[in-house]
Order: sequence, then C-alpha cells, then structure tokens
Amino acid sequence: MFFSEIKKLDKQYVANTYARNDLDASSGTGAVCVDGSGKKYIDFTSGIGVNSLGFTNPAWVDAVKSQLDNLAHISNLFYTTPQMQLAKLLCEKTGMCRVFFGNSGAEANEGAIKTARKYGSDKYGPQRNEIITLVNSFHGRTIATLAATGQDVFHKNFGPFPEGFVYANANDIADLQAKVSDKTCAIMIECVQGEGGIIPLEKSFTNAIAAICAEKDILLVIDEVQTGVGRTGKFLSCEHYGLRPDIVTLAKGLGGGLPIGAVLFGEKTKDTLGLSDHGSTFGGNPVVCAGAIEVIKAMDGKFLDSVAETGAYLAESLKKLDHVKGVTGKGLMLGVEPADGLVAGSIVKTGIKHGIFLLTAKSKVRFLPPLTISKDEIDSGLAILQEVLNKEMQALEAAQKETAQ
Ligand SMILES: *Cc1c(COP(=O)(O)O)cnc(C)c1O
Repeated sequence: MFFSEIKKLDKQYVANTYARNDLDASSGTGAVCVDGSGKKYIDFTSGIGVNSLGFTNPAWVDAVKSQLDNLAHISNLFYTTPQMQLAKLLCEKTGMCRVFFGNSGAEANEGAIKTARKYGSDKYGPQRNEIITLVNSFHGRTIATLAATGQDVFHKNFGPFPEGFVYANANDIADLQAKVSDKTCAIMIECVQGEGGIIPLEKSFTNAIAAICAEKDILLVIDEVQTGVGRTGKFLSCEHYGLRPDIVTLAKGLGGGLPIGAVLFGEKTKDTLGLSDHGSTFGGNPVVCAGAIEVIKAMDGKFLDSVAETGAYLAESLKKLDHVKGVTGKGLMLGVEPADGLVAGSIVKTGIKHGIFLLTAKSKVRFLPPLTISKDEIDSGLAILQEVLNKEMQALEAAQKETAQ
C-alpha cells in the first residue's frame, strides 16, 4: 500500500487525537528505524522512552517469542512465573517491597493515588485524602491523573474532575509547606519533569519534601514513568536525590516495547491494598513480563554507568552545536532549548525530513534515545541536527527580513 493511502485511511478510521509525523515506521534495529520506503532514521525518541534496549534487541525478542509459544495470557486469577520473577527483580533493584502490575503510566498512577488515599483513610480517617502534586507536572490522561497533573490546559473539557488534588510550585518550599494540611495523604512528584520541559527538581526542594513526609507520615509518591528504568543513569531517578519513596510508579521504559505499568510499594504501603482493593485483567501479562525481565536483567551497574556516560556525551555534544541555547536533564533524558525564535516543533518536523527522530517538551527539543545508543549514532544524528538547526535559522532570518521590509 502506498504511504499516501495509509495516511488517508488512518485519518478516516483512527481517532484524530495525534499530530502524526509524516512517515510510516516499518522496522528497526537498535537506534535505527526504517520507513516503508526503506529510508533510515536515527532514533532519539525510543517510542517516547519505551524501547529502552532499542528496536528488536535479540535477547528481548527471544524472551517474548518463547513466552508466546508457551502461554500468552491467563489472567491474575492464576500464578505465573514471569510476573513473580519481574516483581522480585524490581524489588531487588529498588529496595521496594511489593509490586502491582497494570498496563500504562496513567494506570500505574491511578493505582498510586488509590493506595495513597487508602493509606490516609485507614490510618487517619476518610478526610485524609488530599494529594499535593506540582505545577507543570504530568501524570497521565485518565480523569484522575488529569486532575493530578498540575497544568490548567489539562483541566478543560472533561469535567467534573475528582477533587483532592492541590498544586504546589516546584522548588518553592514555602508554597509546598503552605499547601500541606491534616488532609494531606501524599506528595507526588516527578524528579525530572518530563512533558513539562525536562526540568530536574532542586535537591534542597526534594530534601524538604522528604522531611515533611517523614514528620507528618505523608506518603512520598514518585512518578518514575518517564525517568525510571535506567533513563537518567540510575535505575530510579530518585536515587540521584537520595529519596526513599513510599510508592514508585513505572511504565514507559519498563516493557522494552510492550505495554506495562507498575506500582511499587515500600514498607509503609506494602499491605495497604488487600484482596479485591485493586485489579487489572491484562496487568502482569506473562508475555509483557517476559520482555520486561530482559530489560531489567540488562540493567546492571555497568549498563547504568554507560547510560550516564553516554548521556553526558550527548549533553556535551548538544551544547557545542550552533543555535542551541541550553541543555537540561539527566542521563539520556535531555531537553534542548533552541536559540531565540526557533520553534521546537518545527525542528522536529525538519529533523524527520533529514533522517532523525526527535520529540518536543514544551519549548524544548526532547531527547529520549534508546539507552543502548552508540556514540557513533549520536555523532551522525547530531551532524544532521546541526544542518537542521542551520536551515531553521536561515528560514527564521529570511522571515525576519521579510517583515522588516
Ligand atoms: C507518559 C507519562 C505518564 C502517562 O503514561 P501513559 O503510559 O501514557 O499512560 C505519566 N507520568 C509521566 C511522568 C509520564 O511521562
């Protein structure tokens, strides 16, 4: 089928909720994607932080295929080895105690919200139900996680939204303290705000959060849906901050390409959810868990150090490009603020035409490459990006000249 036909039928039959890039992805290896016409692209997106080990990692593909040959699904009314093994590995990696599996980041955060409210209600009564989140956060697109998301643009069209979310300004300790009350059951944060523009929290702020949580028995919930599973050069981004969360949520990079979400419970919360308190038909599916096990197994100390090192190399290389104003982020989760006047969305579009995949995050160009990307691939990709930035700057200057005349 011609690409033009695919596009036409997609527009007709698939809900128009996405601004799609102008190509049909058909195969991939590592950090290289191939479209339907055979053109290659260097991938700095990993499917929005999902393909942690790149496209078609051999160990991952083998594990998924062999699980498929045995058993694709059975439901959570039965025990399966892959789900148990994955939960054990996750606890060993993180120091958390127990895991609930769902299918996405939003769903994991729903589980975290339910757990936080039940913890508050069990111990202090039903009025203890408020969760403080941060302005400019992103926690998902279900009704409750939209309410948890501290951005007004997400609080339109779909009301009424559930109550019980209070927003504090990031890195503003006084504002946070003012929002804490007897009703607060949890504080929920991303250590590096992702969709909000790749903005790491300040350590003095996270220290203050930890102190408030410890003093008042408020749960610390860390949304590691984007930052988790090695993305920032540590298994969890909260390790950079020395935080000991009560609940951690994971999703994007955990499955290595298949849909999964996980809620990790610490000592305080491991018994909060009991029989029938929560559930999921697909959660912890054995095929998905078999893939995720390979992702976790790959993430030894050496692998994480290499993510940190590759991330530092990418950040330094980006800073050297012309028309780059600044670089933010940690590990292989980076945001590039382009020179004044340049538009991130336009850079992404032009990038695709020239053979690189990029993302945006607010005004920034966002990099979430596979954690296995090589320095050679980074070099080739950034050579293309420099051309793209030059072209965008020329176009901007031409447009400015036109308006000046
Ligand atoms: C992507 C994201 C989510 C939502 O995940 P979905 O799998 O799309 O539901 C939640 N929190 C953060 C921090 C994210 O980056």
